[in-house]
Amino acid sequence: MLPPGSTIGILGGGQLGRMLALAAAELGYRCHIFAPETDPPAADVSAAHTRADYADTAALDAFAARVDVVTLEWENVPRSAVRHLAGLVPVHPGAQSLEVAQDRMAEKQFVEWLGGRCAAWAQVDSRAGLDAAIAQVGLPAILKTRRFGYDGKGQARIHSASDADAAWAAIGEQPAILEAMVDFAHEYSVILCRGSDGAMVDWPVPVNLHKAGILATSSLPPPALVREQAPAAVALARTVAEKLGHIGVLTCEFFACRDGLRFNEMAPRVHNSGHWTIEGSATSQFENHIRAVAGLPLRPTGLMNPRVTMTNLIGDDVADWPRLMADPAAHVHLYGKAEARPGRKMGHVTRLG
Ligand code: AMP
Repeated sequence: MLPPGSTIGILGGGQLGRMLALAAAELGYRCHIFAPETDPPAADVSAAHTRADYADTAALDAFAARVDVVTLEWENVPRSAVRHLAGLVPVHPGAQSLEVAQDRMAEKQFVEWLGGRCAAWAQVDSRAGLDAAIAQVGLPAILKTRRFGYDGKGQARIHSASDADAAWAAIGEQPAILEAMVDFAHEYSVILCRGSDGAMVDWPVPVNLHKAGILATSSLPPPALVREQAPAAVALARTVAEKLGHIGVLTCEFFACRDGLRFNEMAPRVHNSGHWTIEGSATSQFENHIRAVAGLPLRPTGLMNPRVTMTNLIGDDVADWPRLMADPAAHVHLYGKAEARPGRKMGHVTRLG
């Protein structure tokens, strides 16, 4: 167990790192953020910030010398940086989790190998390959870049064959997968945490509503169809964590279809659909992640109230802060970002009951 006063290094400086650092502080740890940005939200609440590129090995060496363990809040940290650090200091989760979670194709292959079901999909490496994939998968479908996609970025919908040229251009002609459009009733996520001793906890499953590809709300309890499918989804997510030897929080997103569940994607980290756990659960995703990384036992994840709703504040939504701050039922979390650009996650609000 990492003693209080130790320093946890966090790769990435966004709001997830900020909430991890707050949870770490409550347990008596200091955090050191490694992120290339000038003024990352996580650095505001952390003991130190190294501003450097992930390819800067001298900066990585200096960072490793000042931290006792390293974790990450962003799965697209270059694996070379993670491998370099892992030679110097423990890194959780490790390179294997990143290898799978950084690539949509690897993710789907891994989950299917474990017996999980995804939407029909095919690999696309060229414009001609896209035509072949359309013939295989059918339409409508979504073309998704294999790497660096989030919040609906790096995606293009294809309704008819005549959309193919524009879709291939829209994703920047990169290695991709074509995925059949799923006629889902709901979307939901399994958030679990695996400790350094292999013990696992998972949280009650929220239903997630997206707007324009960005998470808008996560709420509990989920509808009946999700409640029916959740045990199988949790079992699959637990197997994924086990097989990856994952340490920390792992999130798997699913589609609830009338004919069963479909795995969508995973994140080897704390997740926006788990922000409700700060007030809504006996232990937040952030605290259990820090506990896992620090080698502490994990804590229980039961609901504090049967009804919980987390609403994201996206872009200009944050302008409503005076009203939200005055609402005694609203647990307001603002991420300290200076500029409210469209689509940017500025904060969230959780309500119990
Ligand atoms: P993703 O980045 O893959 O999670 O996609 C962002 C959002 O787009 C998802 O949360 C869904 O709302 C939607 N989406 C993604 N893939 C599909 C699909 N195969 N069928 C229908 N909707 C999808």
